[in-house]
Amino acid sequence: MNAVADSHDVIQVRGARENNLADVSLDVPKRRLTVFTGVSGSGKSSLVFGTIAAESQRMINETYTAFLQSFMPSIGRPDVDALHNLSAAIIVDQERMGANSRSTVGTATDAHTMLRIVFSRLGEPHAGTSGAFSFNLPEGMCPVCEGLGKVTTIDVDAIVDRSKSLNDGAIDAPNYGVGTWYWQVLAHSGLYPADRPIAEFTEQQLHDFLHKPTTKLNIGGTNVTYDGLIPKLQRTVLSKDRESMQPHIRAFVDRAVTFTACGSCRGTRLNEAALASKIRGLNIADCCALQISDLAKFVHEIDDPSVAPLLTTLRDTLDSLVEIGLGYLSLDRESGTLSGGESQRVKMVRHLGSSLTDITYVFDEPTVGLHPHDIQRMNNLLLRLRDKGNTVLVVEHKPETIAIADHVVDLGPGAGVNGGQVCYAGDVAGLRASGTLTGRHLDHRAKLRTEFRSPKGFLPITGARTNNLKDVSVDLPLGVLTVVTGVAGSGKSSLIHGSLRGKPGVVTVDQSPIRGSRRSNPATYTGLLDSVRTAFAKANGVKAALFSANSEGACENCKGIGLVYTDLAMMAGVATVCEKCEGKRFTPEVLRYTLRGKNISEVLAMSVADAREFFPSGQAHAVLSRLHDVGLSYLSLGQPLTTLSGGERQRLKLAIHMAEKASTYVLDEPTSGLHLADVDQLLGLLDQLIDAGNTVIVIEHHQAVMAHADWVVDLGPGAGHDGGRVVFTGTPADLVSTSDTLTARHLKEYLS
Ligand code: ADP
Ligand code: ADP
Ligand code: ZN
Ligand code: ZN
Repeated sequence: MNAVADSHDVIQVRGARENNLADVSLDVPKRRLTVFTGVSGSGKSSLVFGTIAAESQRMINETYTAFLQSFMPSIGRPDVDALHNLSAAIIVDQERMGANSRSTVGTATDAHTMLRIVFSRLGEPHAGTSGAFSFNLPEGMCPVCEGLGKVTTIDVDAIVDRSKSLNDGAIDAPNYGVGTWYWQVLAHSGLYPADRPIAEFTEQQLHDFLHKPTTKLNIGGTNVTYDGLIPKLQRTVLSKDRESMQPHIRAFVDRAVTFTACGSCRGTRLNEAALASKIRGLNIADCCALQISDLAKFVHEIDDPSVAPLLTTLRDTLDSLVEIGLGYLSLDRESGTLSGGESQRVKMVRHLGSSLTDITYVFDEPTVGLHPHDIQRMNNLLLRLRDKGNTVLVVEHKPETIAIADHVVDLGPGAGVNGGQVCYAGDVAGLRASGTLTGRHLDHRAKLRTEFRSPKGFLPITGARTNNLKDVSVDLPLGVLTVVTGVAGSGKSSLIHGSLRGKPGVVTVDQSPIRGSRRSNPATYTGLLDSVRTAFAKANGVKAALFSANSEGACENCKGIGLVYTDLAMMAGVATVCEKCEGKRFTPEVLRYTLRGKNISEVLAMSVADAREFFPSGQAHAVLSRLHDVGLSYLSLGQPLTTLSGGERQRLKLAIHMAEKASTYVLDEPTSGLHLADVDQLLGLLDQLIDAGNTVIVIEHHQAVMAHADWVVDLGPGAGHDGGRVVFTGTPADLVSTSDTLTARHLKEYLS
């Protein structure tokens, strides 16, 4: 690509200091593809998301009226001297899409809207305009389930302990604790005895307790409205969208409520008129249930000049979904069930169809969840966005994607305080020659293992049929490293999670959000804070509780968090530094107590690496060493867990579980977020777990991990209905020498 010609063709960043950025100044070429590299914690996100994208979005918000602004999060200005030539930025990240059951792959990509219009024009018999095909509108929705496609059933045994009485807390459901208002209405209703076990209720009493419809009762002179437990929960809890539920309510629903397909519409969400209308023998629900790659073929065969432009747009959208490696999904798949990588790719498709130009698109590891076979196609889509006149900024570790960059910005040299500098900026050839850690690793190839550990037994999976699995039976070897491979959608998660989750001795370490994480940080989550508190108490001859976030020693304004959160309806909350304690978390009295010269606030501000030196022995040192071993030494002890990436969350969980006596560890793409140089350290850690007698099963696309495996289970041959079979089991050496699966071919190419 051309050298950066004049200053209007670059985004100028001057004096960036967010998080660990060391007064960074650089120019990023516009309408080009720039890849940001560097070890995790080097400052990539702080620069790309925290500075460039954040400032762009803040400036857009400022163009709205004060009225509209009052509904938007007030984003603080990033810590940067100047930013010039920004364009509007769109972040396409791995945040899962809302778990709203009315949002599907079809609605999220607009393909569903387009399909509705096609059916309203061409469907026979004619059902009406396009609203008649919408399950979100009264004209089209099934009247029984109101367009949800499913009905809910509450499992009474999950919420009522029949051996207990109401007074003893027989009910385990939100807002029904002993003494609460809802509980009082039941217990004092006079309809049944509150001091007798539920099991001793007569049939009538049990019916009144569980199912009695709304009735007026007089309890102790007060008129109250009585509802049986089940109808009340249906109304108060289940009428809400899962997304808008508080976490404890959501957990309750997950535990006690089952969803079954609606009998009236058979789960299609639509009414009879909509289902009767067909094109080439299929109704709109049939189309939405097809695998997208099959639907694309179907739509290519429809040829009607009256809807030609619309058909072209619909075909483009479906073809993009296939091209991006999502052809195995169906339009009726609920957005909330997609993985982070799948969500990011669905969002990307929305933007490929956009006619906006000169936008800055920002991606966070777009290759996560992609087999080497699919990466090429992802690369093509990134280039297509660029060629439409957009600036494309990508945080990425995979050499295949770094290779297509017009420009690379390599941050480092290390993580945290040891990073935050631009080590190299220029083209890929220059990066190779630069001698930076990234440059040196770019062409580095892991070697195949030559000696394989022998299994100490087998964990059999028999007749697995979850999702697309075709009656799969496979033996997973114990005491070795097994890597499960296959293209996205081949069935890896269905096989491993579907068969192993919840089994005794199996610990699943995934990237899902950590509950209650806003108030948690690495110190609280790992239990490290307990040791720290004890050390402070001993050194100062005071009680340990003084140093906890719920004691009188904590700042009462922020409850010891250091940040104050403002919740905004429908939007992510906003965090601001507590004004009272200025982020120090504790009262001035508590801050006077020190341990080897540091107060509690200073200790919580330390990075894991610094704290590990500060606590050279004991329980605290052991916990900190595990965090170091999983590659998190750059995290600060008090950093809110909500700011961690999926990969960081997974490694944090791994650090905790390593201390347990597990026997089988299951990890899902643990290399996500890891620099090539960090992958070696992760492999060392997995070896340690195995040497200590454990079994490790990893779902991975990273070839260095495949090469390091003792055993490979390869799924395929393709995705969705073209996948779901075991196409190879054996050592990676046998894979490359005897097999011709997609994985075998790519691994062979990688090793050569
Ligand atoms: P990368 O994207 O390269 O992994 P980050 O920009 O996320 O790196 O992190 C750079 C440094 O800033 C790390 O030391 C990290 O712990 C720190 N950091 C990132 N986000 C926050 C935050 N919200 N609060 C405090 N420190 C943070
Ligand atoms: P992989 O882990 O190899 O990417 P998955 O096991 O996630 O593959 O998916 C295999 C098949 O099962 C795909 O066709 C996918 O669409 C389907 N599938 C996975 N999860 C769900 C789900 N929650 N609901 C419906 N289908 C699913
Ligand atoms: Zn229905
Ligand atoms: Zn405070």
